[in-house]
Amino acid sequence: MALIITDDCINCDVCEPECPNAAISQGEEIYEIDPNLCTECVGHYDEPQCQQVCPVDCIPLDPNHAETRDELMQKYLIITGNA
Ligand code: SF4
Ligand code: SF4
Repeated sequence: MALIITDDCINCDVCEPECPNAAISQGEEIYEIDPNLCTECVGHYDEPQCQQVCPVDCIPLDPNHAETRDELMQKYLIITGNA
């Protein structure tokens, strides 16, 4: 399941450089996560790195992008060119 940034985001910039998949970018008003690139950090880390650093806890799982761990790992392998 990809993560999503809610409108509680305060644009503090700290999550963007922490994402190993470059899935986070500045959007029109707040930061955004590309669900095609977010693997919940599967393949890189045990925990979603953006959630770890967000000071306002505004990055929940996105129920509209439900994926199994195997699907997340497959996405990781495709993104990294190892599929
Ligand atoms: S969970 Fe990981 S891959 Fe997904 S946006 Fe956050 S840091 Fe990036
Ligand atoms: S860490 Fe949280 S508050 Fe800061 S830019 Fe990222 S989503 Fe927004």
